[in-house]
Parts: sequence; structure tokens; C-alpha cells
Amino acid sequence: MHETTMINEVNDRNWIKTEVLIIGSGFSGLGMAVALKREGKRDFIVLERANDVGGTWRDNTYPGAACDIQSHLYSYSFRPNPRWSRVYAPQPEILDYLRTTAQEEGVIPHVKFNATAINARWDPVESVWCVITTAGEYKALALVSAAGHLSDPSYPNIEGLSSFEGEVFHSARWDHSYSPENQRIGVIGTGASAIQIVPELAYVAEQLTIFQRSAPYVIPRRDHIYSEAEKGMFAHFPEAAQELRDELFWGNETRFPQRRQVPAFIEQVSTMALNHLKNQVPDEKLRQDLTPDYAIGCKRILLSNDYYPTLTQPNVSLQTAGISHIDKHGVVLKNQDRVDLDLLVVATGFEAADLPIAELIHGVDGESLAEKWKDGGQAYACTTVSGFPNLFMMLGPNTGLGAGSMIFMIETQINYIKGGIGFICDNAALIEPEAKAQHRYVESIYQRSGGSVWLEGGCSSWYLHPRSQRLTTLWPDFMTQFRKENGSFSPDGYQVTTRAPQEQQLLARQA
Ligand code: NAP
Repeated sequence: MHETTMINEVNDRNWIKTEVLIIGSGFSGLGMAVALKREGKRDFIVLERANDVGGTWRDNTYPGAACDIQSHLYSYSFRPNPRWSRVYAPQPEILDYLRTTAQEEGVIPHVKFNATAINARWDPVESVWCVITTAGEYKALALVSAAGHLSDPSYPNIEGLSSFEGEVFHSARWDHSYSPENQRIGVIGTGASAIQIVPELAYVAEQLTIFQRSAPYVIPRRDHIYSEAEKGMFAHFPEAAQELRDELFWGNETRFPQRRQVPAFIEQVSTMALNHLKNQVPDEKLRQDLTPDYAIGCKRILLSNDYYPTLTQPNVSLQTAGISHIDKHGVVLKNQDRVDLDLLVVATGFEAADLPIAELIHGVDGESLAEKWKDGGQAYACTTVSGFPNLFMMLGPNTGLGAGSMIFMIETQINYIKGGIGFICDNAALIEPEAKAQHRYVESIYQRSGGSVWLEGGCSSWYLHPRSQRLTTLWPDFMTQFRKENGSFSPDGYQVTTRAPQEQQLLARQA
């Protein structure tokens, strides 16, 4: 559409105006909303495509879903929960934590549910973001994209998948109306989701087949149920919970040298993983099939005590021949063997390298973020993008972690964005990173990625962008370094312009 037509059309609409518009109410969007609410200075609206908060923790309801980061660390530092039931809380408990947070922090009235953003466009005339959703149109001085990087399922591009006449669903879109009991079930994938699903399905399936493309490294999961005494201690002595949180944080932080391939660190963790495999899988052939052929840490290291033992059960088989195609009855392997199935679970991950949200955000020249990012995401301070004024990306380029709690990254970004929003609103400003500053920043990330196990470990993963093969999703340094660099907003590196006086009207509060 021609730009002027778009603007005219835009002017005819019944816009809802706000200072800050947040897309998404998962861990990042909700955390951002709580920060703004607690600050009490800004109008803000949260757009949520579903009818509940929780993001990936609302959508991933597959059997066995739980977090593989300890809950005392995988929770907001500003809302500790002394009553986590166990070290690694299950999905319903995490979702409950997020719902309670949204309720108790007074965020719910700000959330527009069932509102899917379909287009976000920078209006150069009014210098605002115009966002069209399935439930209304919004204008905002600042736009925060908190759509997450594990929100849109990635389906495998396997010939014949649509011709399968049995049931098929993605791990992130579990169909609980389907009973897997006594069914012949196939699971494609052996990532973090699959290894939680497989033991659960094995209990009920007549026959369970796991289609493995590459073997993961699996280490023991040191889980336990917290006793009432422990929970009481965390409640009465918040400093004890904080001490545990700190200890867990530093445990992860000191594992970062593994990803830099420091030999002593690598050896320690790979010995742990291979011993775990040896202890749990006596059969030599099965053990060989389960032995990864790449350096540990290149993909996510998985935690499980029951995945390997499940694979030794009589009703479970591991297929490593590779999938040739799928037909109406089931999966045909590259060695021509076939596996007939009633249910096929695709546990094949998410659209994390090419974020779908990037397709609908258009900057000053009308180009989408996706077009700008065709070789992978690039952002200044991992958060703002040249050509996209007053836009903040949460969990955008290079914010993922190989080991550690994403909540640390989220809270770092919240603080940065809160500062950026304050600067925009208090100074009636438009901010946009200078192209040169962004380039320098991104180059520093590429430099730090060099020599890492993600680039050199001999695997293929969603951490690398499929076209450029650059590390565009993960942060290639210590988490503390992320906070040092990106923990507070400074206008340095930004092109700052001041709004024309007539534009100030938009600053007028809606209420
Ligand atoms: P994933 O790690 O991307 O794993 C996808 C799996 O599907 C891989 O084993 C992959 O094989 C396989 N696959 C993909 N396309 C395939 C194809 N065409 N044919 C055959 N196999 C195919 O996805 P995920 O397990 O859903 O996990 C994604 C991320 O979510 C994790 O890295 C983690 O960050 C997060 N997660 C976290 C938790 C938690 O406990 N906190 C739990 C679940 C997920 P290859 O390995 O050969 O590519």
C-alpha cells in the first residue's frame, strides 16, 4: 500500500491512544507491565492474542511440562515465591505464578485479551506507532515487542506430513481431548520438550517410537520436593530464599566457560553426561545411538532422570535411520522401514531464528523488521533497532541463554526499557540507535561469538541463523556482562529528536 494512502486510512480510524503499548503478556511483557504499573507514571496497554496471560507457560501444556531452570531462580526477583513445590516447578505452577502476579500487581485491567497484532507501522507524520489488531487500533509513543522467541511452533518440513490420517499435534499445542492411551505414538524430536513428553507417553502408549535426528546430551536432574519446613523457612527468612537464588545464579554463571570450550570445564560436564548415559543404558547399541556426535553445549544440555530409562522399556523404540517421508498410515524411514501410528507428536521447536513478530513491524522507511533481519536479528544493546524509533524488543536478538535463567535477561531489559520510555516521555523525544553505533554493537557480539561451542561445536541448532550461520539468538558472554552493558538506558549512541509541539497532544493521557 502507498504510504499516503496508509496514513489517510490510519487517520480515519478510531484510535485508542496510549503512551506505551506492549505486545505480549508472557514472562517478559508481564514483567514490563508490572514495572510500569509499580512506577505509576505511564499509561500503558498490553495486547495479548490469547485469553490469558502466561505466554509459553500458558501454551506448553504437554504431559511432563516443567521448567529445567530452578524455580527460585526462574521467577521475578521482585516477586519471590517461597512456596515453590519443588526445585523444578511443573508448568501449571509456573502459569499460576504468572496469573497471580498479573492479578496482584493490578496489571489485568491494562491487558486487552484476544487482540492479535496484525500490523505495526511507524507513522512519520505524528511520530507514533500505529498498531492494528484483531480487536481495535492503537497509537502509542513507544512500542515494546514482548512476543517471545519460543511462542510460535515450528513444524517440520517433511514430505507427506499433511497426508497422515492419524492425529498430529505440536508439543506446544497439545490436544488434551485426544487420549493417548493404548495408542501407537510417534514423537519427532529429542529436544527439551520431547525428553519431558516421552517418559509420560511411555506409561500409556501401546507402542512409542522416538524419531531422533541427533542425540542430545542429558545430565542428571537434581530435583526434590520442598518440605513444609523448607517452604516455611523461605517464607519467614526471605534472605534464605535470596541466598539460594544467588547460589543458583552463580552456579549457572560459572558454567559459561563451558560454552567458550575451556577444556577443563567441557571435560567435567561431558564426563557427567556420558556417565549418566552409561549408568542408565546398559545396551551397547542403544547407548551408541544415544551418544551425541558434536561437542557438549553446542545444543541445549538437557536434564532428565527418566528419559534414558524410558528408552529401555519394551514398548519404546528409538529410530535413528532418519525420516524419508510420511504417508497416511505413518512414518517411512530412510532405510525403507515403516512405523504405523495413531498419533504423531511433533516436538520440533519454535520459530526462534526468524521471529514471526518481525514480519508485522514496519519502520521509518516502511520496511519490516523481518526484511531488515533477513540474515538474522541485529539490535543495539540487544533491544533497539536503527530505523525503528521508540521501539524496544524484549527477548530479541542475542538475548537467549545456553545456560541460565531468562528472567535475569528479562529483568535487565525491563530496566533498560523503563529508562528509555522515561527518556522518551519526559523529553518528548524520539530515539533511534545510530546505524554506526548499532553496527559496532553487533560486531562486538559477533566477535565474542567466535570460538564458542555454538559456532564450532559441530552441530546445527536454532541458535544459529539458518541463512547467515551467525549466532543471532544467544548472548555470547557472561550474564553479568549483559547487565553491565545493557542494564540501564543512556542516550549515548542514539539519534535523539524532539517532537513538534502539536505532536505533544498525543502525550495527553487517554484517561
Ligand atoms: P528444539 O530444542 O528446537 O528441539 C527440536 C527437536 O526437533 C530437535 O531434536 C530437532 O532435531 C528435531 N527436529 C526439528 N525438525 C526436524 C525434522 N524436520 N526432522 C526430524 N527432527 C526434527 O525444541 P524444543 O524441544 O521445543 O525446545 C526449544 C527450546 O524451548 C529449548 O531450547 C528451551 O530453550 C525451551 N524449552 C525449555 C524447557 C524448560 O524446561 N525450561 C522445556 C522445553 C523447551 P535436531 O536436534 O537434529 O535439530
